[in-house]
Amino acid sequence: MTKTIYIAGLGLIGASLALGIRRDHPDYRILGYNRGEASRTIALESNMVDEATDDFAAFVPQADVIILAVPIKQTIAFLKELGQLPLKDTALITDAGSTKAEIVAAAERYLPETANFIGSHPMAGSHKTGAIAADVLLFENAYFIFTPSRLTKKDAVPRLMDLLSGLKARFIEIDAQEHDRVTSQISHFPHILASSLMNQAGQYAGDHPFTNNFAAGGFRDMTRIAESEPGMWTSVLMTNQEAILERITEFQARLSQVADQIAAGDEDAIWAFFDQGSRTRKEMEIHKRAGVDSFYDIFINVPDEEDVILMILELLRGTSVVNIRINEENREDINGILQITFKNKEDLERAARVVRENTDYQVFIG
Ligand code: NAD
Repeated sequence: MTKTIYIAGLGLIGASLALGIRRDHPDYRILGYNRGEASRTIALESNMVDEATDDFAAFVPQADVIILAVPIKQTIAFLKELGQLPLKDTALITDAGSTKAEIVAAAERYLPETANFIGSHPMAGSHKTGAIAADVLLFENAYFIFTPSRLTKKDAVPRLMDLLSGLKARFIEIDAQEHDRVTSQISHFPHILASSLMNQAGQYAGDHPFTNNFAAGGFRDMTRIAESEPGMWTSVLMTNQEAILERITEFQARLSQVADQIAAGDEDAIWAFFDQGSRTRKEMEIHKRAGVDSFYDIFINVPDEEDVILMILELLRGTSVVNIRINEENREDINGILQITFKNKEDLERAARVVRENTDYQVFIG
């Protein structure tokens, strides 16, 4: 029943989904649609798909599962088109859009009552686009959200969980409206903040040229997502206006409160403000990443020399390292230049001991 998979949109998300499906279901037929030729060719040549078309309607009648992995507006347009096309009785339709309520509403508006539809949001991505950026590991340990609604049949979630098992994602179900509210807080609004901060600093640099030079780790962490694809984020804002506007209004009140405290010289209130932020962050799931319960980081204060880093990695040979980060730019905080993340406390402690015994660099445990 789930043998012919049709992925419409062979961009970063669609092509990564294709790789994930191939991983656990090499016998399934994967068909792809893509408007532009480049990603179609890459997907065919890399065996992500068996066949590809630039005519969306062409593969619809054969598909057991249809995954729409195109921009949100186009997802809605394709749902409308699907309402007029011959679907298999057992066809299961899903999507990948970053907002859900408008897509679910469109499915309910355009698809026949007999259709089997469920909204999906694979919660991982990057600023890269196209099949060239496809990555079978993209969704590993990421939340993969399903938003069941009126047109969702009982078999939809189990079928998709089986189909997408190769992604090694964490599947979860949530109401579409609630999805949009939560993502407005932790994803959509932060993108607005990052771009605002970047635009503010860019303008400030006009009169204060050192702004560009002094911007270091903290600023970089805060603004990384300002490099995201503008088209995608415009669509996100356009399809989640109410929740995002509410977050902006609430944040404006927070900023005003801090401004009042600074103006009043209220040291205690400002301390409490930072303390609360710090404690809240430590408690949040943000400290669990890649399926690891917690970050086990060491920060090693080393001079900015490549051979030193290689020497430390040599010391750690045999220890499984989850992530390495080299803060090669200006240092502005207590964390050293080299940040290494381990899988567990034992590896972390062993690494800290080895580095301390063999070097005279400061080692901080984070
Ligand atoms: P992408 O730019 O890599 O790919 C988009 C695909 O849609 C391309 O194949 C493109 O040819 C096609 N497309 C674009 N406009 C089209 C149109 N008008 N008609 C037909 N096809 C068109 O983008 P992506 O990152 O793969 O995003 C796809 C979907 O996944 C979007 O709905 C996005 O909201 C969602 N999503 C993206 C991310 C992310 O971080 N990139 C994460 C989760 C979900």
